[in-house]
Amino acid sequence: MGAIRLENVKKTFGTIDVIPGVDLDINDGEFVVFVGPSGCGKSTLLRLIAGLEDVTDGKILIDGIDVANEPPAKRGLSMVFQSYALYPHMTVYNNIAFGLKMAGESKAVIKEKVQNAAKILNLTDYLERRPGALSGGQRQRVAIGRAIVRNPAAFLFDEPLSNLDAALRVNMRLEITGLHQDLKTTMIYVTHDQVEAMTMADKIVVLQAGRVEQVGKPMDLYSNPANKFVAGFIGSPK
Ligand code: ADP
Ligand code: MG
Repeated sequence: MGAIRLENVKKTFGTIDVIPGVDLDINDGEFVVFVGPSGCGKSTLLRLIAGLEDVTDGKILIDGIDVANEPPAKRGLSMVFQSYALYPHMTVYNNIAFGLKMAGESKAVIKEKVQNAAKILNLTDYLERRPGALSGGQRQRVAIGRAIVRNPAAFLFDEPLSNLDAALRVNMRLEITGLHQDLKTTMIYVTHDQVEAMTMADKIVVLQAGRVEQVGKPMDLYSNPANKFVAGFIGSPK
C-alpha cells in the first residue's frame, strides 16, 4: 500500500515560509510528478514526505497513519538520489545491498533481493563492477535498485535524470515509467522539466513559491489550466 495524504503541511526555514501550507492526496499506485520552477519548494516537499526534513506543522499520512514525527526508516519510503550518490568504492552488488545490510537482513535474503532487482533493471552482468565502470544510465539503475530491494510503499525521485545527457534522459524516462507499470508502486517524481511531467505523470502537481497551483492529469492541465502561471508553465494557450 502507498496512499499518501498531506494535510496543511508547512515548512519554514528561519523566517522564510518555504511551504506555507500544502494539502494533497496521492492514491496508492499513482505516478505523481511535482513540477515547478527552481526554488519553488519541490525538493523540500519531497524531503518532508521522506522525513529528511521535519515539518513545521501539519500531517503526513501514509495509508492513514500520521508519520510526520517518525524518522525516515519508519515511513517505508525509498528515496532515489541522483546517480552520484552511489558509493564509488563498493561494487554494484554492495551498493544495492547496502540498505538491507544496515537493516540487518540475512545474507540469503539480501542475495535474493539484489539478484531480483538486478534482473528487473538489467544489471545482472554488472554486479561485480564499481560505479566508475558503468554508464550514466547504469548508475542511475543502481540507484533505483537500492530503492527496489527495500520494497517501499512509495518511491521518491528528486530530479533523478538531471545529470544525464538528453538522449539518455529520454530512455531513462521510459525505463522509470516501465518500472512503475511493472511494480505498480506509488511514485513521486520531482522535476523542473515540463516535458518530463507531461509524459510521465498520472497526476501532475504544479508548485509555485511553495503553493500548489493545480493538481490534475497532464491533459487536464493542458486544456484547462487553473491560471496564467499554470498555462505559461505547461505551455498551453490560455
Ligand atoms: P526546488 O527543489 O523546487 O528547486 P527547494 O525545495 O530546494 O526548491 O527550495 C525551496 C526554497 O527553500 C528555496 O528558496 C531554498 O533556498 C530554500 N531552502 C531549501 N532548503 C533550505 C535550508 N535547509 N535552509 C534554508 N533555506 C532552504
Ligand atoms: Mg530541488
